[in-house]
Amino acid sequence: MFDYLIVGAGFSGSVLAERLASQLGKKVLVCDRRNHIGGNAYDHYNDAGILVHKYGPHIFHTNSRDVFEYLSNFTEWRRYEHRVLASVDGQLVPMPINLDTINKLYGLNLTSFELNDFFASVAEPKESIRTSEDVVVSKVGRELYEKFFRNYTIKQWGIDPSELDKSVTARVPTRTNRDDRYFTDTYQAMPLHGFTRMFENMLSHPNIKVMLNVDYREIQKMIPFKEMIYSGPVDEFFDYRYGKLPYRSLDFKHETLNESVHQPAAVVNYPNEHLYTRVTEFKYLTGQEHTKTSLVYEYPKAEGDPYYPVPRPENAELYKQYKALADSTPGVHFVGRLATYKYYNMDQVVAQALSVYAKITERPSWHPEESVAARVSAKSPSSDRRSEINLDQTSLTHAANSSPAKNIEKNGSSKSLSTKAD
Ligand SMILES: Cc1cc2nc3c(=O)[nH]c(=O)nc-3n(C[C@H](O)[C@H](O)[C@H](O)COP(=O)(O)OP(=O)(O)OC[C@H]3O[C@@H](n4cnc5c(N)ncnc54)[C@H](O)[C@@H]3O)c2cc1C
Repeated sequence: MFDYLIVGAGFSGSVLAERLASQLGKKVLVCDRRNHIGGNAYDHYNDAGILVHKYGPHIFHTNSRDVFEYLSNFTEWRRYEHRVLASVDGQLVPMPINLDTINKLYGLNLTSFELNDFFASVAEPKESIRTSEDVVVSKVGRELYEKFFRNYTIKQWGIDPSELDKSVTARVPTRTNRDDRYFTDTYQAMPLHGFTRMFENMLSHPNIKVMLNVDYREIQKMIPFKEMIYSGPVDEFFDYRYGKLPYRSLDFKHETLNESVHQPAAVVNYPNEHLYTRVTEFKYLTGQEHTKTSLVYEYPKAEGDPYYPVPRPENAELYKQYKALADSTPGVHFVGRLATYKYYNMDQVVAQALSVYAKITERPSWHPEESVAARVSAKSPSSDRRSEINLDQTSLTHAANSSPAKNIEKNGSSKSLSTKAD
């Protein structure tokens, strides 16, 4: 008998499997209908021997020390600061928009102070900010909105920004200095040997069994278990009782070229030309040296694998109905991007999974004789692996029980909200 059946071997499922097995000694079965672990963060070496991300570029960044330290149990890191260029008016310019973007685009030589005045002169003040269009136009004006944001958003979401909730572009990270980093989080790094290796380390505990190519519905009646942790789509779990929750999907076109470097940055965004939104060159992310190079092109679409919950008020209402069902389903914990219909980055999903774990440990039915404090201070078997980035190594396991995990779940790392969904 398994204590837990965990549906999904992505971040949410793997974090919970690891915690329950290593800290509570639970017997855990993790299943995934894909043929690999890692969920959307899965990476692998392609035929040319280049490490690529199957489901598009995944860049790790967080402001949560707890999350970073927790993951450092399972990987060493490679320092990496992400940079993106946008192809606009025939030029490649830094994204998010900064001093160099404006100077290059308009052939100017503004200083930071003058750029503030420039933005103020083009911004269109709005009485109330409701939509994504309002967010951008009120900050940088209509012309930059048209050049950088409008068409990208239409491609990405299939909706004009005037109809898209302001939360998608809640903050336009324009800068008046020359900082061209895409993220400004405290921790920005990539797993040194890739995400999949990190997942292998998380799932290597003897109490964890992994079954791939299996939908949980094929096994749930045959394999006895006490509770379920579900990280698949919440509407699918309830057989679409209230209708389908809308998602955006993507086609990924992978390509390997006989040249060592193809483009001048890890990612080039194409707001206006082409059907794809962006092109990523993986070697920038991984630091791998190779005579060839591999790229991925992303083509947004409506149908297909569910990637991005579409943030519109009516979808939030529909999700509320499913959440009420989920809350009243005993013995099942819903966790992750799809099960909670949230546009979450990896660090937020890790934080969410750690808070679910904390809630599980708080239940008196588990180990009533043992205090929560005693359990969370128990050392993870793999915590002797050390992060390459030199941090004060405080207790890594306290992440599971601390409020910062909850905060990061809500507030997240400084997500770049510049029209793209990452
Ligand atoms: C294109 C793209 C780029 C991204 N880039 C970034 C980035 O740069 N930085 C960042 O922080 N985040 C990024 N993200 C977000 C990141 O992928 C997610 O936050 C994270 O992977 C979510 O983990 P999860 O475990 O919740 O879900 P998933 O990774 O989706 O895992 C869920 C798993 O459940 C399995 N499953 C579902 N239903 C069933 C079933 N019935 N039976 C068995 N298995 C099932 C699925 O096969 C899947 O493997 C990106 C996402 C996408 C789509």
